[in-house]
Amino acid sequence: MRRLMGIIAVVLLIGIVVIVLFAPPFERRPPRIELAHVGKFLGASTRLTVRLADRPAGLKRVSVLLKQGKREWGLCSRTFPTGVYEARVSVTVKPKAMGVKEGHAALVITACDRSLWHLRKGNTRTVRFPFTVDFTPPTVQILNSTRAIYETGAGAVLFATSKDAVKARVQVGGLSFKAYPKKEGDRVLWAALFGVPPHAIGASLVVEDQAGNRRVLALPFHLLHRRLVRKTIVVTDAFIQQKIRPLLPPESRRLPPVQAFKAVNEKLRRENEGFISSVASRSSGDPQWRGAFIQMRRSKVTATFWDQRTYLYRGKVVSHSIHLGYDLASVAHAPVPAANSGRVIFAGFVGIYGNVILIDHGLGLVSLYAHLSRMNVRPGEEVEKGEVIGYTDSTGLANGDHLHFGIFLSGHPVNPLEWWDKRWLRGRIASIILPYIRECHVQDHRS
Ligand SMILES: [Zn+2]
Repeated sequence: MRRLMGIIAVVLLIGIVVIVLFAPPFERRPPRIELAHVGKFLGASTRLTVRLADRPAGLKRVSVLLKQGKREWGLCSRTFPTGVYEARVSVTVKPKAMGVKEGHAALVITACDRSLWHLRKGNTRTVRFPFTVDFTPPTVQILNSTRAIYETGAGAVLFATSKDAVKARVQVGGLSFKAYPKKEGDRVLWAALFGVPPHAIGASLVVEDQAGNRRVLALPFHLLHRRLVRKTIVVTDAFIQQKIRPLLPPESRRLPPVQAFKAVNEKLRRENEGFISSVASRSSGDPQWRGAFIQMRRSKVTATFWDQRTYLYRGKVVSHSIHLGYDLASVAHAPVPAANSGRVIFAGFVGIYGNVILIDHGLGLVSLYAHLSRMNVRPGEEVEKGEVIGYTDSTGLANGDHLHFGIFLSGHPVNPLEWWDKRWLRGRIASIILPYIRECHVQDHRS
């Protein structure tokens, strides 16, 4: 009898130990802590998100501290109700306002769970994330910029920054134009080309360092008015049958005429322009163009940049569009020259633009050739100014054989007319960024 009791007692004891060791309320794994923040810097204002998880016991408490030397600042402390297994805690750190000095600091995150382990104190994990505190924005000096810019036209800016600047852009209204850097001694030289839409009200230069600190400077220029053309285009049933319906996906080919026209002229146009813009925004840094751009020989201009088109079908206004290039008509299947030297970044079919070639000339500048028949080049190929890259046609949404020629800066269309003009190019662009171009050439020779 006593032996039996002894065995039962031992089994019970083992049972209790097993429960304590393996039962969920006694789990021994501390919470998981992750910091969702890219980079190793804390800028003037940095938002950090801490992700916490604990199963099966659940989260109990978290605290976030900033430590520098012997000083520490509590950023956040939270207690979770029972049943919380995952949580996100966001804190905004403003080191300067808190009195933290620039230099090394660490974020210390401590979290504990609701386990009954450690005499009900739970499991605790502490993680230390090292950071560099930097709340001083880069210094910026505008060296030169285009003073007079036509509506729909372009300008350039040359500026120098301290070495900590990592990215910069020119902001014109809602449009952003990338600036390209070149290290030059203990400063960085930058150049940017930017476009100015009609009625633009000024531009700004935005320069950022690794810590996300920004310096914003006004980029003043005088806006010159340009007369824009309005055109009315009559849409016929024959045009809808021959040019519109083939561009529609099979399920939309039976749409009534006006809906079919709008599906192509509005929806498909938006998609195609979005695609071209995204490809054209992938430009390399070094300017590869030499001198003015070439306009296709013996061609007649049949449409200009920013023409505002109104479409009439059976006497009624049915749609609108803005023409984002120049139309150049010559003989059928006329040879199309590369307007300047560069690298082909796209050659293929793009809906209303038909067969399209995009050439990157560097520094955000890309030229476009649309409605082509045959294309002689492939993406990745380097082309020389004047080299025949394809032949004209009327592929896509084109009424007759012609070349649609476009110029893009950081993916945004600008007036091509200026780029054909040697004097404009020298006076308003090349002379502004000349030191940058020279620096590119120096580095070419070094490498
Ligand atoms: Zn066109």
